[in-house]
Amino acid sequence: MSEVPQGPFVDGEFVSARVHEPRPMINPASEEAWTSMSNASTELVEASVQSASRAFERSWRGLAPGKRSRILFEIANAIRKHAARLARLESRNIGKPIADARDEIALGATVFEYYAGAIDKFCGETIPVGRGGLDFTVHEPLGVVAAITPWNFPFPIACWKVAPALAAGNCVVLKPATLSPLTALVLGQLAVEAGLPPGVLQVLPGEGGTVGAMLAHHPSIRKISFTGSTEIGRRMMAAAAVDLKRISLELGGKSPNIVFADANLERAADESPMSVFANAGQDCCARSRVFVERSVFDDFVERFVSAAEALRMGDPLDPQTQIGPLVSSAQREAVLAYVEKAQSDGRKVLKMAQALPEKGFYVSPTIVVEPAISDPCWLEEIFGPVVCIRPFDEEGEMLAEVNRTSYGLSGSVWTQDIGRAIRISRRVEAGVLSINSHSSVHVQAPFGGFKQSGIGRDLGMHALHGYTETKNIYVGETE
Ligand code: NAD
Ligand code: MN
Repeated sequence: MSEVPQGPFVDGEFVSARVHEPRPMINPASEEAWTSMSNASTELVEASVQSASRAFERSWRGLAPGKRSRILFEIANAIRKHAARLARLESRNIGKPIADARDEIALGATVFEYYAGAIDKFCGETIPVGRGGLDFTVHEPLGVVAAITPWNFPFPIACWKVAPALAAGNCVVLKPATLSPLTALVLGQLAVEAGLPPGVLQVLPGEGGTVGAMLAHHPSIRKISFTGSTEIGRRMMAAAAVDLKRISLELGGKSPNIVFADANLERAADESPMSVFANAGQDCCARSRVFVERSVFDDFVERFVSAAEALRMGDPLDPQTQIGPLVSSAQREAVLAYVEKAQSDGRKVLKMAQALPEKGFYVSPTIVVEPAISDPCWLEEIFGPVVCIRPFDEEGEMLAEVNRTSYGLSGSVWTQDIGRAIRISRRVEAGVLSINSHSSVHVQAPFGGFKQSGIGRDLGMHALHGYTETKNIYVGETE
């Protein structure tokens, strides 16, 4: 098997016809072109969707649940077997620290195991309807699903769309982000080697505006499962409206980290920097707005700074590295523009002391202390290693400010008072809350946003429902 995929994976093989000219792929740590990728042409997209539709009818929808389950377990095994290679690919492709990449590949395997095991536990109902007779529901697959994914967590997000969609009996056309197609392509290949019939999972590298838009508008696609920006999410919804495609959207965030004076400050401050600086801040769940009760504000900021200064930034392939470069120079420029704006507005901006490597799209972890509540850095998703910290005095006012954003993805609450912890987490408008923790993603639990952070839920049994239609069947009385 070729070490680095260079084009689409369709009908069980890598294809080199009906593709565009190869374009160089830049390693964000070295800024050097290290491989190339040929994107799918519109002809190839069309052929891929048609053959996925045929695979749905011929080989996948009718397969016994036990066989589907077996194949998904085999895919998980193949991911684990190739984990080291997948992690290296991800790291070179987007500059992700190798230790994180390894964890994310393992997470992808766990997702396949979870849905492999869920297939024969995903039950319908029998319902005692008024007429008598027998009434029952079945979960029917939708058909061909388009999965469109972002570049920040390429492998796990691909898995948490593909695995439940396949488990529910659908076929999938996966369009990874333009910048990060490599591990998704290997997933396609491993899946077929593990026994998935060709055509059931097609992987099409390409630009969003062409391949992505074509899938979103394609009449044979029954659902768009999208993770990315709120801006493109809106376009996905407009595209879905044309033929009422099913849709799920996991979008941006600007999530709060709320620290009360009675919290275990040492733990809160130790763990909070990585809740926003992990993945160099390119995380939809990043706790990028920190609210600290005023009496412990200075103490917390001091502890936060010293924990942040201890983070190891550098070569993504070094297993000790915690913070790598951003994905691209464009992303670095966008992030630095927020920092420069805060500086020119006269805000207190602390750049952590890590030495910036000579090459690579690195940005120093940065703390903006007490920005104004109208500042862009306080309100907008930055998607880089920048955090804003503000003091608060009163719970009600703090909550109003927490919820005064169009986003609602995640959030954390730190306090020893269990009543307050529950009260606050019930009132934060977000889909994923954690108390005395920053953990957001659990394979077994629903993940998704309120408001403009999205619609629908990934992961857990919730996702399976999202990849099926409920059909009610009534059988008349026989006597
Ligand atoms: P993006 O919206 O630019 O792109 C996401 C995907 O959509 C990519 O595959 C892209 O090629 C495709 N796309 C772009 N334009 C398209 C179009 N017109 N039609 C169809 N597809 C199109 O997002 P990104 O820059 O890759 O990722 C960053 C964003 O993703 C951030 O806003 C982040 O918060 C969000 N995100 C959300 C989650 C979540 O689960 N909520 C997870 C990761 C990232
Ligand atoms: Mn983008």
